[in-house]
Amino acid sequence: MMTHAPNPTLQKLKARLTDLDCLGSALGVLGWDLETYMPPKGGESRADVSATLCRMAHEAFVAPEVGEWLQTLLTQLPALPTDKDRAMVQQAWRSYQREVKVPTTLVEALDRASSKALPVWANARKTNQFDAFKPLLTEIVQLNQQKAQALGYTHHPYDALLDGFEPDMTTTLLDPLFAQLQAHLTPLVNNLTQSVTPSLPAGPYPKQAQMDFSHKVLTAMGFDLERGRLDESVHPFTCGLHPDDVRLTTRLDEADPLSCLFSVLHEGGHGLYEQGQQPDLWGRGLFGGASLGIHESQSRLWENLVGRSMAFWQVFYPAFQAAFAPVLDAMPLAVFYQAVNRVSRSPIRVEADEVTYNLHILLRYQLEKDLMTGTLTVDQLPDAWNAGMETLLGYTPKNHAEGCLQDVHWAHGTIGYFPTYTLGNVYASMFWAKAEQAGVTQPIAQGDMKPLLGWLQTHIHGNGLMESPNQLVQRVTGQPLTAQYFTQYLDQKYCLKGAVV
Ligand SMILES: [Zn+2]
Repeated sequence: MMTHAPNPTLQKLKARLTDLDCLGSALGVLGWDLETYMPPKGGESRADVSATLCRMAHEAFVAPEVGEWLQTLLTQLPALPTDKDRAMVQQAWRSYQREVKVPTTLVEALDRASSKALPVWANARKTNQFDAFKPLLTEIVQLNQQKAQALGYTHHPYDALLDGFEPDMTTTLLDPLFAQLQAHLTPLVNNLTQSVTPSLPAGPYPKQAQMDFSHKVLTAMGFDLERGRLDESVHPFTCGLHPDDVRLTTRLDEADPLSCLFSVLHEGGHGLYEQGQQPDLWGRGLFGGASLGIHESQSRLWENLVGRSMAFWQVFYPAFQAAFAPVLDAMPLAVFYQAVNRVSRSPIRVEADEVTYNLHILLRYQLEKDLMTGTLTVDQLPDAWNAGMETLLGYTPKNHAEGCLQDVHWAHGTIGYFPTYTLGNVYASMFWAKAEQAGVTQPIAQGDMKPLLGWLQTHIHGNGLMESPNQLVQRVTGQPLTAQYFTQYLDQKYCLKGAVV
């Protein structure tokens, strides 16, 4: 076996990246706490703590010595001991080139603005007052415009932000993808919303029963509750602090158990990706997933391709009925299946069905692009949102809470994130086609989801950030990004004889 002399530069870089993963983990706990258990008035002081740690992390990463280490290591790349060392250097260099362009003052300002914005947004949404959120949103948009300028771009300022969530993705690639989806989805939505589909009885569906059933589903999926947990928050999310500490949240509504259940399947999919990564990627800046789009492919795969399938419900429906007995006793499986696959012109993205979902994303994509160029102002945003909903989905929001105040992303200070949801749907169907060929999806009908999870761990989860989304998609599916499998999946499920409608 070949041995390598210790490389002091490599050791220094690894030590710094371990420090940064520790700081990232600490920031993760603070963020998780802010949305779960922090008392309402803790926001101001939390903003200071979080912004300070954020500044420390940024300064530690963009320090001149890190640039020098990376320059040295790039010249030694083929001679580095392992693939992980090479990936660590390449990934750190990619992030370094991005982050070094953004002044620390701007990073701190954005983090501070978003920490303050979060409770203000939550309250504005509750009271339906866009004006309360407007000053902070204006600041967040301006700071993102500055960030795009600092990062630089060749075609559209949005590209600079997008690249931070989905490496190498651009508006030039997304515009035709969305156009293709819109052309396919609009007639499909028109068809599928003609007839009346059933909905669930009024309930009640007690919160504790929802949480208990959620834990059962997570266990069946293979989510390790000794290395993760599930809590309640306003907006469901996943926070991976380490492969051995993955926090999921869900929302609970006593009138609607499906909101919680599909959030759990969704966040559980994210959580499995986090738990499935090789543990030694953490501490090298390689933990967290290839991109947000690939991450979302895992959540959407479990939420929709598994969680809205007849195979899944054949197994789980009796337990679901029992959990809320006697409310669902008179509803047969076939009717329940129609209810969970109901297609409707509805206002809320996180509760949208899989047919209309990407139209909700297209709206946000169009608005964010215009906010970045300044052709749309924050003042005009509520009207533009409502007009876009009318055009794309034939629905006019009744208030701001079901309009432009519904999502947490802008309060988080993030612009450029939304398209990764659509990419996730598209990647998920590409991966699913391969998983079907491998014979790992069929055992779901017997309640066995282990073959599917094993396949996902082997082909997708393990490598973390060791490869780019394009490389991963090409390796797993043998072809580049295409919407073809997603549209075929919808056509087969919703249009064929014997299908849902
Ligand atoms: Zn997600």
